[in-house]
Amino acid sequence: MATGEGPILNSRLEITGLHRNGHEFPVELSIASLKMAGKYEFSAFIHDITGRQLAQIELQHNQELLNEAQRLGQLGSWELNLVSSELRWSDEVYRIFELDPARFSPSYENFLNVIHPDDRDRVNQAYTQSLENRQPYDIVHRLLFADGRVKWVREHCISEFDASGKPLRSVGAVQDITEQYLAAEQLRIAAATFKAQEAILITDPDANILRVNQAFEDLSGYSAEELLGKNPRILQSGRHDKAFYRAMWSELLDTGKWSGEIWDRRKDGEIYPKFMTITAVYDDHHQLTHYVALSSDISQRKQSEQEIHQLAFYDPLTKLPNRRLLLDRLRQAMAVSTRSSRHGAVLFLDMDHFKTINDTQGHAMGDLLLIEVARRLQGCVREGDSVARLGGDEFLVLLEELSSEPDEAATQTELIAEKLRNELGQPYTLKNYECHTTPSIGVSLFRGHLENVEDLLKHADIAMYQAKTAGRNAIRFFDPQMQAALDVRSALETKLRSALPMQQFRLYYQAQVDSRGKATGAEVLLRWEHPELGLVSPAQFIPLTEETGLIVPIGLWVLETACAQLKAWQDDVLTRDLTLAVNVSARQFHQTDFVAQVQRVLLESGAKPSHLKLELTESTVLENVDDTIARMREIKLLGVSFSMDDFGTGYSSLQYLKRLPLDQIKIDQSFVRDITSDLNDAAIVQTIIAMTEALGLNVIAEGVETEAQRDFLDKHGCHAFQGYLFSKPVVVKEFEALLRR
Ligand code: C2E
Ligand code: MG
Ligand code: MG
Repeated sequence: MATGEGPILNSRLEITGLHRNGHEFPVELSIASLKMAGKYEFSAFIHDITGRQLAQIELQHNQELLNEAQRLGQLGSWELNLVSSELRWSDEVYRIFELDPARFSPSYENFLNVIHPDDRDRVNQAYTQSLENRQPYDIVHRLLFADGRVKWVREHCISEFDASGKPLRSVGAVQDITEQYLAAEQLRIAAATFKAQEAILITDPDANILRVNQAFEDLSGYSAEELLGKNPRILQSGRHDKAFYRAMWSELLDTGKWSGEIWDRRKDGEIYPKFMTITAVYDDHHQLTHYVALSSDISQRKQSEQEIHQLAFYDPLTKLPNRRLLLDRLRQAMAVSTRSSRHGAVLFLDMDHFKTINDTQGHAMGDLLLIEVARRLQGCVREGDSVARLGGDEFLVLLEELSSEPDEAATQTELIAEKLRNELGQPYTLKNYECHTTPSIGVSLFRGHLENVEDLLKHADIAMYQAKTAGRNAIRFFDPQMQAALDVRSALETKLRSALPMQQFRLYYQAQVDSRGKATGAEVLLRWEHPELGLVSPAQFIPLTEETGLIVPIGLWVLETACAQLKAWQDDVLTRDLTLAVNVSARQFHQTDFVAQVQRVLLESGAKPSHLKLELTESTVLENVDDTIARMREIKLLGVSFSMDDFGTGYSSLQYLKRLPLDQIKIDQSFVRDITSDLNDAAIVQTIIAMTEALGLNVIAEGVETEAQRDFLDKHGCHAFQGYLFSKPVVVKEFEALLRR
């Protein structure tokens, strides 16, 4: 084909066609001339352009609208020539987009940049689609500005296409509708709110109810009709005084708002707490138009608050304040005492042998006892005084407003303590079960803030401990000497920890003799030989080793040493029949592997099990009677026997005594001491002896110091003795010398 040859579109006309059915339609007639081999040929193309014309009319119409809007300053308009890619923005578009015409030229990029990133795809898609479908589009989207502000705009766009469907130009209008959008939003929110869970009540400026929502009807129990036109006063519970409502109104009038907790009455009469916010609503002229009250029922919250408070500050069993609440009250009491300079006192109470009752009668019975103790305690104190349960069987009583004179305050406290001791010592009937218990009471007086709360409690605790040591059912006042004793104790503990590795323990042997005075064996008694302290008595350190757990290795050492001695005596006629009694502590006995320990020591030492006797105390066996019995049986199977030490000082119940696989009962020295002078003690000893006879047990008396005591015991059926009359505890060499005599 030669140059310049090919089709050339010469002209294009729009004419009106006439359809066969008589209807007229627009037609585009295009005539093209074709120069072929130097000759011209002409072709004509006919197109039905009805659709295009309609679009144009619409475009024109829109154009008018745009112009009109532009004239009113509401709309921005833009035009994109898709053939030349030229884009034009009206001033209003610049204004809406907040772009400076001097710095930004109209471009699709600049346009996209102001569109909210989340809306970009949508806007893009709307435009692309409208070109594809040849349909105008109308879209609402956001603009996002550098400072974070958002505008809502509405865009309308229409495009023009050529006969082949190729887009020629797009014309668009942009309208800033932020205000309307937000207003509509508010309306939507308001409508949603009114349907919400929260109860809403609206009144006129005179507080006549205009409207309530469903939630309010549900909350108050009144229907909307019943409330309309009424004053909200009809909802009042009567729980708040006039001053409360007066304060509420004055705040509402001053600040336009009130919120707080308020008790209302439901239609059925029930009073309930709610949280309410009242807002005064003003019109544009600052004229009060409505009050809007939002309320939510908080009875559930109140109740759980109450429950949480109860749990946090009260003991669930006895309903008494717990330690936390008491500490709080104590702090207050100290502050008050500082101002009044009057004394206060804390009484620390611990029930004696509570554990025994708990273990033998079950926890439910123990609980009943604690409840009853709490009741009695509360009955004994004045209204301003506090009773608390610290846990377990420990109670605390806080006395306030005592005399400012120390002596007088002490006397007052002693009187109350005595009353408590007496009251708690009365027999208890718990579900037909009769029992008896007593308290040990430690007292610590205070005035002002001389000491801190924790110290004060510690002092009362120490005093209580002293009351226990003094034989229970007693009252002790804390005094600084006790503290000193305590300090000594902790120093002792440090030394005690190194006693075993430093080989400072010794075993002393105290003979046990028969009626003829012949030694049948000995009890081994522990001594601690300290380089500075000298010979320390077990009474001083055994309790401490129990508390610290040191008793376990120490007790094992005693057992090993005693067994080694038995073995050493085995080949000598003088000593081979001797038995050794070894004291076993509760903590040691209840070690999980105690049985295995005994077995191992016997095996390793080669001592005859029949020559070994273990002394247990009542409190040891009562700690867990069933387990104790099982353990004792296992040990007895090895051939070892058992003696019940200090018998008569504890619980001494025949009931459990019958169940325990004991061999011997050891009458405590406290009964033996006054056996010849005190008829009571004489009677007790006789009873114990009779009891052992009935149960088929051996009996031995300890602490026999005089001939008279020995004779009395012998006469009444006890033929085994231990005591200073025969020998003090001595080292093994001396004991052996004694045997030879
Ligand atoms: P206990 O087992 O009741 O031992 C009897 C205590 O009475 C011994 O005191 C003994 O010296 C003392 N005594 C003996 N005869 C008389 C007497 O005629 N008159 C007087 N007034 N006292 C006499 P000791 O040796 O001070 O032991 C005190 C307690 O220490 C023992 O009481 C025992 O419970 C404990 N204890 C001693 N050695 C050990 C031990 O190796 N292990 C354990 N767990 N406890 C031990
Ligand atoms: Mg003993
Ligand atoms: Mg004893």
